[in-house]
Amino acid sequence: MASKSTNKLHFLLIPYPAPGHTIPMMNMAKLLAQQPDVTVTVVTTPLNAVRYGHALNKPGLPAGFLQLPFPATEVGLPEGCESLDALPNPDLALNFAAAVDMLQFKLERCFETLSPPPICIVSDKYLPWTADTADKYRLPRVIFDGMSCFKQLCDHNLYASKVFDGLPESETFVVPGLPDRIELTRSQLPAEFNISSRATRERLERVKEAELRSFGIVINSFEELEQEYVDEYKKLKGGKVWCIGPLSLCTDNDNAQRGKIVSISEQRCMEWLDLRQHGSVVYACLGSVSRVNPMQLIELGLGLEASDHPFIWVIRAKEVEQWVLESGFEERVKDRGLLIRGWAPQVSILSHPSIGGFLTHCGWNSILEGVCVGVPMITWPQFAEQFLNEKLVVQVLGTGVGVGAQFVVHWGKEETFGVKVKSEDVKKAIAKVMDSGIDGIERRKIAQELGKIANRAIEEGGSSHMNLKLLIGQVRDMNFNRTATQGFKFYQI
Ligand code: UDP
Repeated sequence: MASKSTNKLHFLLIPYPAPGHTIPMMNMAKLLAQQPDVTVTVVTTPLNAVRYGHALNKPGLPAGFLQLPFPATEVGLPEGCESLDALPNPDLALNFAAAVDMLQFKLERCFETLSPPPICIVSDKYLPWTADTADKYRLPRVIFDGMSCFKQLCDHNLYASKVFDGLPESETFVVPGLPDRIELTRSQLPAEFNISSRATRERLERVKEAELRSFGIVINSFEELEQEYVDEYKKLKGGKVWCIGPLSLCTDNDNAQRGKIVSISEQRCMEWLDLRQHGSVVYACLGSVSRVNPMQLIELGLGLEASDHPFIWVIRAKEVEQWVLESGFEERVKDRGLLIRGWAPQVSILSHPSIGGFLTHCGWNSILEGVCVGVPMITWPQFAEQFLNEKLVVQVLGTGVGVGAQFVVHWGKEETFGVKVKSEDVKKAIAKVMDSGIDGIERRKIAQELGKIANRAIEEGGSSHMNLKLLIGQVRDMNFNRTATQGFKFYQI
């Protein structure tokens, strides 16, 4: 737990136990703890504390963990399944969510022991029970859902307008009320717009209800990246939106491990990359939890092979590991392909000057990590909000080329989707991104410029740095008012 000093502003951070949610929140914890007069406690489970502990384990950093035992076996999960990426199969997703809900009781049982008393809860948006905990202890609750303002605004306008209702799956419609003309189809919408199970619908309603009771929202983005969307979203939220990212830039030298033991040493990757020309390598990774049909992944591998560019390919499927050996793929590409089986030191790889393109599933953390290092992207969205992220990168920012994915691959239904993107499509998208003609040069120029702006945003005086100060100041003021009025409750204005 955090330090005992009573003058400190104590922030309680509660991440959702999944890498794409926890990694940015660990970075946020560190960032907050580096600010004057701030101390931080991250509420997590024992295995996650081990997994992410290195991020906070810095001499003198006033940050620590409150570890709550995770009731995995009580809800029918295997022992040690404390993170969404450890789930043996997607049918257990609701069991996992039930175990996460049970953390509320465990947290409240030891809340009074937290010292100094917390003044603010920063909670993952998908932990709606933290709104009740915040009410109970009369604390402001700031939410974090790890996505851009572009995504928040799309979500809001889609919910409000229901413009997609009754349309055939593949008919395009325009998302209303956005600064740009963004076209989508129903089959590209996040699963929350297409819910079939009652339990999931109820869960999402709880999330929405809890969001309305929050004090504001922290966004892992920087204003210059999506200024018009930030402005519009702030109007919707009465100004209580703080863009404090990119959080991946706040990790100093922690880039190698980032939550999991890497399957290859960072040094080996760097040595391999050192031997390649600047800007020549394609890095391909589809995130931490996406489940892709192995036949589809094989097309990805064949596309990389056909591209003639050196590449690093992160493989997370046993069937594909077998295929690369048995088909002779690994042997054929041995002079220009590095295969990583399992977890890659992604941020370190992306930061190497030899990387010239990033083939990504468009998870928001990956997108931002690509933006920060100034590389153009080959976009292959899979599920959740990833098609929206693709629109931002390809259409609004102009730094990406899509492989042509058309449908959300719903979690657990990947087998039924078959092969939709062919190796030829992958090859073509790579060729466009790595192109040395006018379009390719222009795309790279925009990407590099955005990378520089991203790095400036987090520096002293940069937009994200100022927003972080603003957030801390507003929370401090609320705490002062609360102490003065006793019993003040915090609802969204
Ligand atoms: N990541 C990594 N190594 C891997 C796969 C993923 O370091 O082999 C990290 C990646 O850098 C990012 C996070 O895991 O920070 C994935 O989050 P994202 O939002 O991109 O996608 P998700 O996995 O949540 O779909």
